[in-house]
Amino acid sequence: MNDWLFHRARATPDATALVSADSGTAWSYEGLDEEVERLAGQLASLGLTTGDHLGVLMETSVEFVRLVHAAGRLGLVLVPLNARLTADELAVQAERADLTALVCTADTEPQAVEAADWVPVASVDDPQWEGVTHLQQTAVADFERGEWDEDDTQLLLFTSGTTGQPKAVRLTAGNLQASAVASAFRLGVVPDDRWLVTLPMYHMGGLAPVLRCALYGTTVVVREGFDPGPTADDIGEFDVTGVSLVPTMLTRMLDARGTLSDSLRFVLLGGAPAPATLIDRCRDYSVPVHPTYGMTETASQIATAAPTDAFDFAGTVGRPLMWTEVTVVDDDGTPLPPGETGELIVSGPTVTPGYYDDRETTEAAFCEHGLRTGDVGTRDESGRLWVLNRKDDTIITGGENVQPGEVAGVLRDHRDVREVAVVGVPDEEWGERVGALIVPRSEDVTVEDIEAHCEESLAGFKRPRLIVFAEELPRTPSGTVKRDAVRELLLDSERVDVADA
Ligand code: ATP
Ligand code: MG
Repeated sequence: MNDWLFHRARATPDATALVSADSGTAWSYEGLDEEVERLAGQLASLGLTTGDHLGVLMETSVEFVRLVHAAGRLGLVLVPLNARLTADELAVQAERADLTALVCTADTEPQAVEAADWVPVASVDDPQWEGVTHLQQTAVADFERGEWDEDDTQLLLFTSGTTGQPKAVRLTAGNLQASAVASAFRLGVVPDDRWLVTLPMYHMGGLAPVLRCALYGTTVVVREGFDPGPTADDIGEFDVTGVSLVPTMLTRMLDARGTLSDSLRFVLLGGAPAPATLIDRCRDYSVPVHPTYGMTETASQIATAAPTDAFDFAGTVGRPLMWTEVTVVDDDGTPLPPGETGELIVSGPTVTPGYYDDRETTEAAFCEHGLRTGDVGTRDESGRLWVLNRKDDTIITGGENVQPGEVAGVLRDHRDVREVAVVGVPDEEWGERVGALIVPRSEDVTVEDIEAHCEESLAGFKRPRLIVFAEELPRTPSGTVKRDAVRELLLDSERVDVADA
């Protein structure tokens, strides 16, 4: 089922499948298909057959795109691995995912070899590999095209590890198809669409467009690495119509270039809350921003807002995609009416059947109404969703619940705040206090400025009692904020203050 490239190459052979923004080279569907056929043969010559687990350890690149399709062709389970992990972290994931083989680049080969010496490791920068992609004579085995059933696991993708060890999510051929179709129903598809992929392809946000465009018959533009100014320039230069970004990337692109090319139909903005100031800039500069809520377990988008909703309903991530249902429940799992805040539970055809080889975690993740996202949010009468923060991050101070997402949203609205993390800090009297670690835009900003700003918009119990400035926020290799480390930094700075006094 999901060797979309195979069918595309026969339906629209001359349409452009892929463009490398780095070299300017373009591939038609027919051309890419020939290379992928060859690559699949080479993977077969490594001994890989249907159902084997192919690890891929590299940043977003043309080679990665070819491997995604070659895995589809052979019926392999693709296991993209985060190229920024250390060898130790990688070893855990390689074992967790039962790799059969691992493909890497010259850059990632040392980690790959150290982490997974028990499987064949092949580098795409090896001269032998060059031969394959340039269609010269090399070892190519005969193979049978893989057949995909809806329930077959096509992808094992690790979560970002924000709340603990990354979990290996099983995504089936059916999950990926439903996600591609529902996304198209929300964003629309036109034949000249070009989707710029600059997010890492080892996360859903980078991988989804590569799969989807092959189904749609549209073009993927790949840029290796992210550089705010040049990436913004790519959009105009390559007539890009869509791009997926996380908020920090979009902020930096607008900082660098002011606005983005009007070739754009959509900017899919997700992975983290979008600051209100960023949405305002998009409105002022006509950037077609679509705030999006998604997760690895749902093959990317759960809900996506149109720009009009983003501008008129501050902070919304829009309504769930077609076929996806979101229920808001209280601590006992009882559904709540619109306007109430609780955990978001998601069900529908894009939801994973579970974590790979981990019944316990899978069972804990599902309830009567679907998958427990671990996120807290709310919805209005007409079904628009708001995501506040993770359930575990709810701060309980003096018996009152404070959602750090709400506090962070207010802090981000301050013009001198670039980034912020709000966490609960243990407190003898109140149980927890609200703490804020802030990366300022300007050196002149003071704690008093921030306090005055909070007084205008937040009830007393929600206001940060501990405010500390830092040069950057501590992050996981996937770029999400490490909350424990934030808490430690806040506590440490307090210890220093006390020692100074
Ligand atoms: P782990 O599951 O290992 O702790 P993770 O949840 O960060 O890591 P991902 O699947 O990459 O791994 O991220 C999905 C999560 O990202 C969501 O559950 C949610 O917490 C957060 N998220 C995504 N989009 C948004 C958004 N628009 N606003 C707020 N949070 C978002
Ligand atoms: Mg998660």
